[in-house]
Amino acid sequence: MSETQAPLFNRLALIGIGLIGSSVARIAMERGNLAREVVANARTQATLDRVAELGIAHRVELDPAKAVEGADCVMLCAPVGAYAALAEAIAPHLAPGCIITDVGSTKQSVIRDVGPLLPEGVHFVPGHPMAGTEFSGPDSGFTTLFEGRWTLLTPPPGTDEDAVEKIAELWRRCGSMIEVMESSHHDRVVAIVSHLPHLIAFTICGTADDLADESRQQVLKFAAAGFRDFTRIAASDPTMWRDVFLNNREALLEMLARFTEDASAMARAVRWGDGDYISDKIQRSRGIRKSLIELKQA
Ligand code: NAP
Repeated sequence: MSETQAPLFNRLALIGIGLIGSSVARIAMERGNLAREVVANARTQATLDRVAELGIAHRVELDPAKAVEGADCVMLCAPVGAYAALAEAIAPHLAPGCIITDVGSTKQSVIRDVGPLLPEGVHFVPGHPMAGTEFSGPDSGFTTLFEGRWTLLTPPPGTDEDAVEKIAELWRRCGSMIEVMESSHHDRVVAIVSHLPHLIAFTICGTADDLADESRQQVLKFAAAGFRDFTRIAASDPTMWRDVFLNNREALLEMLARFTEDASAMARAVRWGDGDYISDKIQRSRGIRKSLIELKQA
């Protein structure tokens, strides 16, 4: 192992070990350059038994307070709605100088729920890897999940720069690119690129499911690419997404209001036969798709 690839941390404690946590764990175990020791915590013993079976942590620990003992890096990888209670449980047990970070999809709520509970001398670097699938649990993780994807870091003002750089380096070693931004900006950006599309997908699937029995059968039988793509997004974990919606309420409602206005304008164009409006909108959408492909984010 070269000097630059010495492990960044001695002990990494992962609090929550589903899709995201188990992907980080797999990378840590396989490459050995994130931490010397990986400790995994989850809500249930069943998940921890599975983690032990998969061999993706050195140690499993059901009590979060015990899981963080002696860790120099703690990463919260549970649904964001669980963060406040978790932070309360672990705060008194964090080692001085420890860096606490997270992977939650909302950032202002995390700073609100976790920040005030942390003791002096513990560094707090909130983060969000912009990578995922519709699968959850420790079996769903894989080492290439973060490859070529952005990880957004939202350190509150005054955060120790070395701590930020260490977490940035952890994500680089996972294959990510890094951008540092303010938490409020993060929450608006993800509201449009991730949270609103999920809300629309859940709604469309609900609408289809509400149709009379006969039409519902037809929907399933003839599901074309459009509807099928929505069902993939809508297959995501209910707890995670409930927590995301409730913890990014303002930005999500703002983007939904803008979307509703634009959808009404599209409906008007359809009603009045305004073909130019419709084709202009589709043309602009194709441009967005093309840009994504060029940026290798498609
Ligand atoms: P997941 O696969 O559903 O796993 C969640 C993990 O958290 C499980 O190990 C679960 O334990 C544990 N957990 C749940 N409640 C807990 C609690 N109260 N205390 C301790 N552990 C608890 O979730 P995920 O998809 O990895 O998402 C984890 C975080 O990453 C979320 O905050 C989410 O917003 C964020 N994120 C997700 C994605 C994505 O696409 N999925 C992308 C980026 C960021 P049990 O198995 O025992 O219940």
